[in-house]
Amino acid sequence: TQIMSRGLPKQKPIEGVKQVIVVASGKGGVGKSTTAVNLALALAANDSSKAIGLLDVDVYGPSIPKMMNLKGNPELSQSNLMKPLLNYGIACMSMGFLVEESEPVVWRGLIVMSAVEKLLRQVDWGQLDYLVVDMPPGTGDVQLSVSQNIPITGKYFVLGLIQNMSVFQCPKCKHKTHIFGADGARKLAQTLGLEVLGDIPLHLNIREASDTGQPIVFSQPDSDEAKAYLRIAVEVV
Ligand code: ADP
Repeated sequence: TQIMSRGLPKQKPIEGVKQVIVVASGKGGVGKSTTAVNLALALAANDSSKAIGLLDVDVYGPSIPKMMNLKGNPELSQSNLMKPLLNYGIACMSMGFLVEESEPVVWRGLIVMSAVEKLLRQVDWGQLDYLVVDMPPGTGDVQLSVSQNIPITGKYFVLGLIQNMSVFQCPKCKHKTHIFGADGARKLAQTLGLEVLGDIPLHLNIREASDTGQPIVFSQPDSDEAKAYLRIAVEVV
């Protein structure tokens, strides 16, 4: 289950960015980055007049570079801001562009907060309608820093929940299995008084597309899996 939230303009906005949509989750490995990437692509696909950015503040395990098939160091603008890297029409910035994959996690820990500060304030996004932020899992310093510094309300205005890996359909016999349970997100949403924005099936194509740097919404936009993301993108705007 993932939590989507959108900021209200209280904190100092990110220069040039109209709306910030945060994708968060309690634990890692639940598909948060996959959701963030495909949501960004779906927002762009649903309305080509909108400019979309993707900010990966998952500092210990940045996966946006691989999923968006991007690498390299950002160039600096004339005013010394980092320029996002661009692919599939999405402007991307990631901790992964700033540190080598081989750098030890302990060392990363020391530079995390200054890196988060840089990622939040020293990027030249140009003009964006939506910036999708891929958070690290859990609740820690990075989440606190993001929610305190950029316009996401103190009360954490939650857009709703996404049930990822909701159902698996056997490609041979077509039988459907709810491997992680059928309605966990719905129950949680009821308890918390939140909305469920949609379900994403557990599907091999989603995983393969992400791993090869060709996210499903970009590479197979007519598939049922991509449509699940496109429907969610309608819900969040
Ligand atoms: P997180 O950001 O929460 O750590 P990831 O987005 O990296 O999680 O996803 C973890 C793994 O699960 C990745 O291999 C990803 O491709 C895969 N995955 C995520 N969502 C799905 C899905 N709906 N169907 C199949 N595989 C998925």
